[in-house]
Amino acid sequence: MALKLVIDNLSFNYASFAVLKDINIKVDVGEVLSIVGPNGSGKSTLLKCINRILKPQRDTILIDGRCTTKISIKEMSKLMGYVPQSSISTFPFTVFDIVLMGRRPYINWNLSENDSRIAAEMLDFLGIGSLAMRHFNELSGGEQQKVVIARALAQQPQILLFDEPTSSLDIKHQLEILCILKSLAQNLSCSVVVSIHDLNLASRFSDTMVMLKKGRIFAVGSPEEVLTEENIAAVYDIKCKVTHSLLDKPQVVPLISEDRVVRSLNLPTQAPLPTQRL
Ligand code: ADP
Repeated sequence: MALKLVIDNLSFNYASFAVLKDINIKVDVGEVLSIVGPNGSGKSTLLKCINRILKPQRDTILIDGRCTTKISIKEMSKLMGYVPQSSISTFPFTVFDIVLMGRRPYINWNLSENDSRIAAEMLDFLGIGSLAMRHFNELSGGEQQKVVIARALAQQPQILLFDEPTSSLDIKHQLEILCILKSLAQNLSCSVVVSIHDLNLASRFSDTMVMLKKGRIFAVGSPEEVLTEENIAAVYDIKCKVTHSLLDKPQVVPLISEDRVVRSLNLPTQAPLPTQRL
């Protein structure tokens, strides 16, 4: 059964502070949808509303037409997996323990052989089977990220949410993680929603992009529709060139000059900085 996620006119306040306003998004089966926008524009808050860590004031998140407030926590965990920005374990859990935690929604009394098999399969799927008995806290950032993804996959969800999954990774691991997300959507028919800062990676791996500005959708559509020089100037306040010359997806080259940045930050300078005249 394939599930469709609909966000229907979502608004969200932290106490009296309005963070999200009038958000309407549909995510199809097999689709990767990325959420971009400046720091503080509401990306993480949106993901947390979708998976019910935060509770919007109205019933606005629908899975196959069912409002998530009518779905039990246990069932939600089977339908939706969430990979947060950072995961620090205060206990010395092994990698295998952490991935097994993803089976919690399915476990009644004891772990079954099936639960262990699925956890092992997910580690193998992500190419980290050899780390199974290592302690999570002793792994590199990239390895930890894969373990947390394996835990989400062990839930066998059909909707996966990722909050900045590439932010602390080197370029190779960034590509690897995004290839994994794309493959989950295409090969396992998952719907993937990912908040991400890197516009060029988002462009390469997304079917649809949503660009937020101050908690509202400023642009939505294909990478070509969203990543325009005008949209980026209006949302990020920087000049850029959008090129299609290297890939068949738009790539963004920021054109801001260093001395403009220094002026805007009022930093002290002794010698004039080299200016990029673009
Ligand atoms: P992004 O993920 O795009 O950086 P966030 O969703 O984290 O944005 O934050 C959106 C806004 O909500 C910011 O102004 C932030 O300060 C505020 N905010 C985030 N978390 C909380 C919180 N727990 N309580 C109050 N305000 C918050």
